[in-house]
Amino acid sequence: MIRRPKKHELLALLPETLVLTRTRDTALRYLSFDDGPDPEHTPPLLDTLARHGVKASFFLVGEKIEAHPEIVERIVAEGHMVGNHSYSHWSFRNMDITHQLDEVYRTDALLRRFDDRPHHRMRPPHGYVGARLLMHFATQRRSLVYWSYDSLDYQEQPIEMLVTRLLDAPPAPGDIVLMHDDSGKATAALDIVLPQWLARGMRFAALPGNAP
Ligand SMILES: [Zn+2]
Repeated sequence: MIRRPKKHELLALLPETLVLTRTRDTALRYLSFDDGPDPEHTPPLLDTLARHGVKASFFLVGEKIEAHPEIVERIVAEGHMVGNHSYSHWSFRNMDITHQLDEVYRTDALLRRFDDRPHHRMRPPHGYVGARLLMHFATQRRSLVYWSYDSLDYQEQPIEMLVTRLLDAPPAPGDIVLMHDDSGKATAALDIVLPQWLARGMRFAALPGNAP
């Protein structure tokens, strides 16, 4: 089981241009999906988002970008943001800074082919960031993105439980919602939840492509 931190109190104290955990929006929420592109699960998710006119943000893994470039093309063409979720998805915890930066910049170079941006918002694998990478991002004016609402879609639980939670305790304005597209759970839940959220007046957007 991969440990995914639910709270980022310390990171939330840093300037939001460096580390974004939520936004100051009063009108919008932000869905984000990690660990794709996935040939089985990402296309149906894109179908669901398109059906409801919802734009989102995808934090992609470099190795999977190389394996499934046509899915990345589709993500960008449909108006979603693509972010950097490292090259191999190995934890940065026991990785030296040179290797960490290689993971970051290799994936940036891959993503650049699709959206023409030199750098991309970064969500490190498992949410782990060390002091040296944080300093690098600060000096390079780059941006890390975390989340303020964890959907818990990676937990072993029936879809019904996920749906109930998303409907009973929905994301608040400005929330960045963590979900994953390496399984079908997010899509199964969103097929039910999104129409109800939209009917309640909730609106969603992709994150801007880089630091504001
Ligand atoms: Zn991940």
